[in-house]
Amino acid sequence: MDLRTVVLMLAIGSFLFGILLVLFKYNNSNPQEVPYWITAKFLQAAGSMMLFYRIGTYDGFTVLANASLLLGCAYEAWAIRILSGQDVRRQLHILTSIGITLVCSITLFLDSPYRIGLIFLLQSSFYFLPSLFLLKKSGLRFSLQIVLAICYFLTGSVFLISAVISLGFSAYALRLADNTIFGIILGLSFCLFLISGFILLMLAKERSDMQLIEIQENLKKSETRFQQIVETAIEGILIFDEHYRITFSNKNMASMLGYTVDEMLGRSYVTFLPESQLEIFNYQESLRKKGDDSVYEGCLLRKDRKKHWFLISAKAILNDDGRFDGSFAMLTDINQRKEMELLLEESNRRLTELSNMDSLTGIANRRCFDATLEHEYSRLRRSKSKLSIILLDIDHFKEYNDCYGHIMGDECLRQIGKVLSYYTNRNVDLAARYGGEEFACILPDTDIHAAVNLAERIRQRIEDLKIDHMESPVSGFLTASFGVTTARYSSERSPTEIVAMADKLLYKAKVSGRNRTEYAEFQGDELADM
Ligand code: GH3
Ligand code: MG
Ligand code: MG
Repeated sequence: MDLRTVVLMLAIGSFLFGILLVLFKYNNSNPQEVPYWITAKFLQAAGSMMLFYRIGTYDGFTVLANASLLLGCAYEAWAIRILSGQDVRRQLHILTSIGITLVCSITLFLDSPYRIGLIFLLQSSFYFLPSLFLLKKSGLRFSLQIVLAICYFLTGSVFLISAVISLGFSAYALRLADNTIFGIILGLSFCLFLISGFILLMLAKERSDMQLIEIQENLKKSETRFQQIVETAIEGILIFDEHYRITFSNKNMASMLGYTVDEMLGRSYVTFLPESQLEIFNYQESLRKKGDDSVYEGCLLRKDRKKHWFLISAKAILNDDGRFDGSFAMLTDINQRKEMELLLEESNRRLTELSNMDSLTGIANRRCFDATLEHEYSRLRRSKSKLSIILLDIDHFKEYNDCYGHIMGDECLRQIGKVLSYYTNRNVDLAARYGGEEFACILPDTDIHAAVNLAERIRQRIEDLKIDHMESPVSGFLTASFGVTTARYSSERSPTEIVAMADKLLYKAKVSGRNRTEYAEFQGDELADM
């Protein structure tokens, strides 16, 4: 084999090897990527090709070819170092590259055997280096590493011997160029190139497989860890797709709702929502679609259709483009606390209701009457409207009790309570038991005529009940007397004064013969009889 043939074969071999490595890199099943390697092969291919055209001459172009070849060898040494599990310092790599370029430039000023000797010497060192790197155990098949190390060592030795001959025995070196032994050495180098390339590929594949296994193991480990966290969490965990279909549920979540995990998967989250929660859900959904997270209290329907309360912490899952791709939710069981809260709310409401209600008649009590009057009177200040008050008192009720007994008396009070609530049917009206056998009505936005009219209808209705009262000097039946007054807001007048006026009018009705209505309207600060 002559030098030209070997150099050409090296160029083609390196180029093909480079192509193979590119394919190797873009094969998805190979996660292992060996930096420097592809560049090494293409640099070697380019260097060899340039040398092939320039054999016999030595100029700038040859220097470039040698530099490219040597850089390729250095890159290959680094690739092997990485492949055998060690790292390459960037600074070292840069310094080596600069050194190679400098040495190659210097050869321009040297005579033929010396410059070849120097280049061979450098080349040998870049073959010895990988053989050293390969002596370190890296988890790959060590026997392969050793064979590869031997290959590099032999190639390095070939270059070293050539360098020694060129430098020390320049005259002999010139003769050697035409010798068949030189051809054999070159042929051997090429064989070593092929063998080492093949082994190198095998090692790279092995490392790649090892990494794949490692990745799979790590993935499995992190999956197990995730599973453990999810299953030991006291919270319920749900993952939804972009249409709010459940793609993941932990066991805890499923059991809190009375389902199995399988029953939960694929179901729409909306099917778990009671009607009262739909509005909240729509709002939360709009937040999530904007990519916002939130924490809120919400209730879901269990399998037995009972409501169960959770503190829901929800997070949007966004895809690579930042678009909504689903959501993730952690649900803490707050059912007991929430039920207690709701019970407390209900009992508070009930308590307020009771504290405002007269227990005998079921209508508002005096307390409620006073508070409502206060409120309505302050409202009157803004509305500039009129407020009417009706006060009524059962006639000769003492005699009724004496004659028919207190139980019957109580029944009368209940019946009058019913009449009053029937006639005060607007939302703003209030009928109350003012005390004993006295009742009162608050009629906001009502003028005197409407109020008197209503009082008369109530009075008539009580008469029409035809509750026997044989002791009453007024009539044979139970009757009541009414005092009605109407007022606008005045800073000079308190609501108590209006009631006092109604009371006065009621007294007037009593002394005027009972079972009648007396009324008067406040005009400005004065009272005007009608
Ligand atoms: P007048 O026509 O002047 O109003 O005469 P009267 O007998 O109705 O008035 P008086 O104030 O003398 O008596 C009120 C009576 O109302 C006394 C009391 O026995 C009765 N009364 C007050 N509260 C209740 C109650 O809760 N139940 C019963 N059964 N009677 C009550
Ligand atoms: Mg009375
Ligand atoms: Mg009375």
